[in-house]
Amino acid sequence: MMPDLTSERERAKLRKLLERGDPKSSSGLRNEVALALLDKVEEGRVLTCVYCGHEYPEGTPSWGSDLLTEHIRTCEKHPMRDLESKLAQLRRALVGLVGLDTREELEAMEAVVRLSTIPEKDRASTIDAIHALMDTLPASAAPAGGEGQSL
Ligand SMILES: [Zn+2]
Repeated sequence: MMPDLTSERERAKLRKLLERGDPKSSSGLRNEVALALLDKVEEGRVLTCVYCGHEYPEGTPSWGSDLLTEHIRTCEKHPMRDLESKLAQLRRALVGLVGLDTREELEAMEAVVRLSTIPEKDRASTIDAIHALMDTLPASAAPAGGEGQSL
């Protein structure tokens, strides 16, 4: 069966097979030619985002590239967006219950709660809520992102 050259996995498999040949034998020589063609295929390939079809610049590696990380952060269709919006929803609900939002307010509240004489169970769950809010504080470095996107 013809290998599917659009599949990165199949290209890698084929490359491995071709590289096994001895370059001095005639079949090895054919393998060299095939390898050179394979290089051409890889050169011209365009990597796209599986969620939105966004095309990365030619030659972007399929993993470990900052360009990928950067796009995943802003891709509207990435599953992460759904999780982020649910997290924001949960956080808003918790802010409504606790009544505090900033790190300073939360730290002050934690100090008060630790010294208070409320039942241990209430103290523990209040401190859990404070910690959850602190752990999910929106990154101050991000320029008011979240809703909408810059593209
Ligand atoms: Zn995308």
